[in-house]
Amino acid sequence: MSNKLVLVLNCGSSSLKFAVINAQSGDEVISGLAECFNLPDARIKWTTAGKKEASNLPAYSAHSAAISYIVEEIIKKEDGLSEQFVAIGHRIVHGGEKFTESVIIDENVLEGIEECASLAPLHNHAHILGIKAAQSAFPTLPQVAVFDTAFHQSMPAKAFMYALPYNLYKEKGIRRYGMHGTSHLFVTQEAAKALNKPFEEINVISAHLGNGASVTAIKNGKSVDTSMGMTPLEGLVMGTRCGDIDPSIIEHLVTREGYSLEGVMDMLQKQSGLLGISGISSDFRKITENCEKGHQGAILAMEMFCYRLAKYIASFAVPLGHIDAIIFTGGIGENTVKVRAKVLDLLAIFGYQVDADKNAAAVLGEQGIITADGSPIAMVIPTNEEWVIAQDSAKLVSA
Ligand code: ADP
Repeated sequence: MSNKLVLVLNCGSSSLKFAVINAQSGDEVISGLAECFNLPDARIKWTTAGKKEASNLPAYSAHSAAISYIVEEIIKKEDGLSEQFVAIGHRIVHGGEKFTESVIIDENVLEGIEECASLAPLHNHAHILGIKAAQSAFPTLPQVAVFDTAFHQSMPAKAFMYALPYNLYKEKGIRRYGMHGTSHLFVTQEAAKALNKPFEEINVISAHLGNGASVTAIKNGKSVDTSMGMTPLEGLVMGTRCGDIDPSIIEHLVTREGYSLEGVMDMLQKQSGLLGISGISSDFRKITENCEKGHQGAILAMEMFCYRLAKYIASFAVPLGHIDAIIFTGGIGENTVKVRAKVLDLLAIFGYQVDADKNAAAVLGEQGIITADGSPIAMVIPTNEEWVIAQDSAKLVSA
């Protein structure tokens, strides 16, 4: 697979992340972000071999115009680059129960992604726009779908079911699906290599902490429980999402406090979490800065974030029994020394003891064990979802 390049596309509703990746080495030839879709200031920025560039897109551009720009103005400017492409890999948020692994996209797969859109309307509709635009830009290249939910399809019913009437599951697909599967899978594979254990025998708890955050229990290399649910709203305290709440709060706000249902859902998704608690920001760097200045909202946000995460990790001892490692990843997991130290302190009952120097060293893309000798292991592993998408795509097209 030496020179097999894959164009990886991650289409959101108002932005599109893209990368050209060597499927074997994981090297990124180009990476970038088009954003502010459907707005006057739609724009794009990208990095080619370390060189950063940026440009405005035509006003009100969206997926199709962004992909045309990426092809015509970025990829085609690099001599012979597109000739090395073997596939286009698309990150798809929701694959429901239909997709348990990555697949080459055909008409049936497109229909399947459309069917799953009721479970993640914003995301899946954006993915379909991205796939169609990529198909017209590269009509002869195979397109591959890699699902965020696929890794969690191994969860047993006792973990994925809600305690609701059973026919809601059977007839309407109401169940927990989990997300960030590509990231949880990648860091588990890396942990197996680092700890010198076969992937099929490794038990880890993986905490992917970015703007969205989820924690997963992985037993013998398979997801057996995870904190996100039918949608990415359930579970941990996130940047702007509330995570677990009593569902009666929604009824209370609508029937007694005059909120619209739409307003409440917008609040739970976009104005809650770290932003809502701190009143400052959803960005963990700002939370950390303000904690240091003694801001009470930021301190509470940090404490709630760590406490909820530690509770979830502790509860995942139940399906695992034996834990080979706790893994921290995602922007916060990879960089926030304080969060890792606090969470492991909260888990002292399991014997976890942080090594302050090792913890401080594992930042900005550095992988490493952060616990003291003799302690059960916790480690930092930078995630690389794009590489998993590139690997799956290259594997599927060569099969
Ligand atoms: P996304 O879910 O959008 O992919 P990321 O994984 O990039 O998000 O994580 C974003 C979060 O990581 C933000 O809260 C950001 O503040 C935090 N973060 C990123 N870099 C650092 C850093 N160097 N120090 C502290 N927090 C960081």
